[in-house]
Amino acid sequence: MSLLEALQRYPEFLFSVVGILGLIVGSFLNVVIFRLPLMMETAWRRDCQELLGMPDSEQPPQRFNLMLPGSHCPICHNPIPPRENIPLLSYLALKGRCPKCNTRIPIRYPLVELLAAILAALIAWQFGLSWQTPFALVFGWSLICLGFIDIDHQLLPDAITLPMLWLGLTLSVFNVFTDSASAIIGAVAGYLSLWSIYHAFKLATGKEGMGYGDFKLLAMLGAWLGWQMVPIIVVISSLLGAVIGTAASFVFHRDRSLPIAFGPYLALAGCISLLWGDQIISAYLHTSSLGG
Ligand SMILES: [Zn+2]
Repeated sequence: MSLLEALQRYPEFLFSVVGILGLIVGSFLNVVIFRLPLMMETAWRRDCQELLGMPDSEQPPQRFNLMLPGSHCPICHNPIPPRENIPLLSYLALKGRCPKCNTRIPIRYPLVELLAAILAALIAWQFGLSWQTPFALVFGWSLICLGFIDIDHQLLPDAITLPMLWLGLTLSVFNVFTDSASAIIGAVAGYLSLWSIYHAFKLATGKEGMGYGDFKLLAMLGAWLGWQMVPIIVVISSLLGAVIGTAASFVFHRDRSLPIAFGPYLALAGCISLLWGDQIISAYLHTSSLGG
């Protein structure tokens, strides 16, 4: 039996393989979430200094990108050897502490790995052995990156949203998740719907409720899933935002006038729509036809 046949015949095998792949990719997602915003900040600072004709204030920076330097403890700079860099297992084996300086490793790292694995297994379960699965994985993992970067920095990097938007439009040519007309209208509707809400809100209250990153993220989701999913994503993300935001303001006594990142809710709603959007639409049509 070939590997492909085995994956086809035993779905549990497919979930496990894709789930383990999710753990490994999740470990890389942690790197992207941590380093990409720092790389962008360095580039902005360099641009500003150049524009203002200021001399470089810093020493020529050491090479810093997604690959270099290798993984190390942020406190004692102890390099992490590959055997201590196994997703999830290393965290458990090290009991969540750096072996050299005993600093606590944030629980977020294994959680992102676990999240990437669970999402991967759900995608494999929903799409099976098909062309949709590898692309859905790329979609889901990029949403995890965007959500966490937005939580940390209130920022949705163009470096992720725009290439993903183009990829979504390209996939529609081959009808992977939706057809081209739905994808193009989805991208436009996604961008313009939040753009109009943003300007209406700003006109009414003088405050800015969202950022342009949110428009681009919803445009990306519309390009991947089609315009039909855009209203569903807006409703789900608003509900999630209202519920989680209110809960957070009670639990953490968060100041409600502070801006909140909307990206994580959009990202979560995007994953839900990818996995169960069709069921949500047909359930809605079913209940509304009963009601009418
Ligand atoms: Zn350390």
